[in-house]
Amino acid sequence: MTRTFTTAATVEDAIEALGSGARPIAGGTDLVVGARQGKASLPEAIVAIDRIASLGGIVEGEDGLRLGALVTHEEIVANDVVRARFTALADASAIVGSHATRAHGTIGGNVMNASPAMDTGGPLLCFDASARIRSTWGEREVPLDQLWTGPGTTAVDPRELLVGIDVPAPIPATGSSYVRLEYRRQMEIAVVGVTAVVRLDGGSIADARVAITALAPTIRRVPDAEAVLIGSDGAADGIAAAARATAAGSSPIDDVRGSAAYRAAMAEVIAGRAISAALARARGEHVEIPASSSTYAGLGGARA
Ligand SMILES: Cc1cc2nc3c(=O)[nH]c(=O)nc-3n(C[C@H](O)[C@H](O)[C@H](O)COP(=O)(O)OP(=O)(O)OC[C@H]3O[C@@H](n4cnc5c(N)ncnc54)[C@H](O)[C@@H]3O)c2cc1C
Repeated sequence: MTRTFTTAATVEDAIEALGSGARPIAGGTDLVVGARQGKASLPEAIVAIDRIASLGGIVEGEDGLRLGALVTHEEIVANDVVRARFTALADASAIVGSHATRAHGTIGGNVMNASPAMDTGGPLLCFDASARIRSTWGEREVPLDQLWTGPGTTAVDPRELLVGIDVPAPIPATGSSYVRLEYRRQMEIAVVGVTAVVRLDGGSIADARVAITALAPTIRRVPDAEAVLIGSDGAADGIAAAARATAAGSSPIDDVRGSAAYRAAMAEVIAGRAISAALARARGEHVEIPASSSTYAGLGGARA
């Protein structure tokens, strides 16, 4: 049961509260909803960070994107730069929960909750994103491949605050896609998810990233699948081989949403779809960003 609830007006206030043992709350769609569902009790002390103006906003610079920790999924999907150049991230945020979840749930909360089924993790990992972390002892960048240490755990000290996520600009002719297997469109969590990012040079794939979601204890890349794609011409047999390598690189578990065997079989199917969509986008073809509500209907993704 929570005994202390404070509201921080600045990052410094929030960090001070964290130093006294408080846990940050942004949108509360994991922390509060999880407590109501009995997954974990609310922390003894909570500091609300949702009014810290400096933690909001999406800024595009020459180096790439700077996402404030409080940027919501709605804001991500509505952002033209994300849709055009970081399309897999738009794919992911577009299908988080429901309209209410996306309006309140933040990118910072998604990443720091460290669920192996989080939707934005695969795209951010494949885009080489890093987390900007601040504390009383300074600021540091943690590459996302070093952030998640297990289901629900991170390499971030409880006294540290995530202030933003930096995503380097992709090289032109890069296409990306995130596809998840879901039993229904709204209010669903990934049964299996795959992110693919490919860069074309002439007719062949010069670089490739593949990451799996809900298929291992943390979101992670699959180097064997990437190696199959790099240097290939993106033909169907190469995509199929990379999809098989993606499934082989997964270590799924049995749970209420699916058996490990079902997940492994679906990993191959979903990987094939994600790689095909990323390739199509890299070639400049239109592949729709999922529309979880009418808000996004008709808006599409494009080539970087
Ligand atoms: C009905 C429903 C459907 C959902 N569907 C999906 C889905 O489809 N896909 C998906 O990925 N997720 C889903 N979620 C989970 C959740 O909505 C997202 O993970 C969301 O992005 C969490 O953001 P938040 O701001 O609400 O996090 P919060 O609940 O506020 O925080 C989550 C965790 O992160 C920590 N935290 C938050 N901000 C910071 C920070 N700046 N620095 C350090 N730690 C921080 C908190 O202490 C807490 O441990 C769903 C949740 C619900 C209730």
